[in-house]
Amino acid sequence: MTRRTKIIATIGPASESPETLRAMVDAGMDVARIGLAHGSLEEALGRFHRVRQVAREAGKRVGTLVDLPGPKVRTASFGTGGVELIANTEVEIRVGDHRSTAEAVEVDYENLLHDMAGGDQVALGDGQVLLEIIDVGADKARARVLHGDMVHGRPGFRIPSDRLSLGTPTREDLRALDAFLDEGVDMVALSFVRSGHDVRRMGVEPHPTGPLVIAKIETRAAVDNLAGIIEASAGIMVARGDLGTECRIEETPHLQKQIIRECIAGGLPVITATQMLDSMVQASTPTRAEASDVANAVFDGSSAVMLSAETAIGAHPAATVGTMARIAQRADEEFDYVRWGESIRRLRMTDANAPKSITDAMTGAAANAANELNMAAIICISASGFTVRSMARFRPQTPILGFSTSDRTAHQLTLSWGVTPMLAQNRSSYEDRLADALGQAQKAGYIRSGDIVAVLAGMAQATDALRLVRID
Ligand code: PEP
Repeated sequence: MTRRTKIIATIGPASESPETLRAMVDAGMDVARIGLAHGSLEEALGRFHRVRQVAREAGKRVGTLVDLPGPKVRTASFGTGGVELIANTEVEIRVGDHRSTAEAVEVDYENLLHDMAGGDQVALGDGQVLLEIIDVGADKARARVLHGDMVHGRPGFRIPSDRLSLGTPTREDLRALDAFLDEGVDMVALSFVRSGHDVRRMGVEPHPTGPLVIAKIETRAAVDNLAGIIEASAGIMVARGDLGTECRIEETPHLQKQIIRECIAGGLPVITATQMLDSMVQASTPTRAEASDVANAVFDGSSAVMLSAETAIGAHPAATVGTMARIAQRADEEFDYVRWGESIRRLRMTDANAPKSITDAMTGAAANAANELNMAAIICISASGFTVRSMARFRPQTPILGFSTSDRTAHQLTLSWGVTPMLAQNRSSYEDRLADALGQAQKAGYIRSGDIVAVLAGMAQATDALRLVRID
């Protein structure tokens, strides 16, 4: 069985060379994530162009995902040597951009004292240091170090999102977005989303003309407003790094499951992200717990699993992609496809809010038929990719071939579970489109004489034709 769960790898200093990118493509990278939280816009654009170039040379369709950082509040520098913040000691916090020490932390944010209150917990960096605010005065706040550690450089200063008066997307996000829209980026992720309104404020054209918009769920408010965010987005990322500092850590595995189920029921691809193979930033093999985490994310129903620091700054970017690909593929083999399909159908039947659509019914029927008849492929012919994403949600065991005449759509489908994106010829009649797709699938070796395949296509707006074909 080929791997069905997609792999996203973050590109950074450790992985931006054409040789390393090529090795990552060969190891199974489906989507390259370009973050803007570190480095300049020019560096990010350079990485984007290199990914496109390398994918072209490799003859593989690799999606591009730019990740807009949203409001990032940072401390003044603790210096490159770092400073240890010691548990149970008291520190002062004030507005400034000069220097931070173990006794006084300066934060580069004007509204700092306005946005904090006694009792708040503030995380530094990825949450390795946790401060509890004791009180807030006119020119400084006092805090106790709950969890101490070494801090280097200018770590993020994570004010609880429901207090932060900075919204997302920021002006810098929108500037970067414009630059990447000009380049035709396939997907855009937005950080620190709190509502569907934040997503709409990006103001991009609907996909596939615009990029696929992915909301990162990493704030308490986003968890509370999940339904509205799902409605405004084309995909979701469970951004466990920040989510784990904003919500209680024991809640994160359950939030992951809940978010994934709601997204998949709605037909949206969903990404599980952060610290999946974290020890591979240095080590050449993952911990056993990390291997289980990747497999469990697949069992939870993730469309894609993501690598962050592992490939951006890690010692073995391509080997890490290969390791994740092997774990995901093995988990795909064990996935309970029949039960999943039934539970998604049941969920949609019992959820009074779930819109009932023809596409849902058609793709659900195709998944059933494919499992029952042990089909060789499900061929979806789709303009925007909507039918293909709807199909993928039922997790048929049968490979899905996602045909579109739009190269943009084909690139956006790199994120969708179980889908091999393919470029369709522009044909006017249904019969000609069918013949083109079957011919291409046969030529590429996905189907052969005697196989049964399902073909789903839209004659008008929605998917309204399902044909089961035995190949001559
Ligand atoms: C996260 O917080 O888990 C995440 C994916 O976002 P970022 O890497 O931008 O912090």
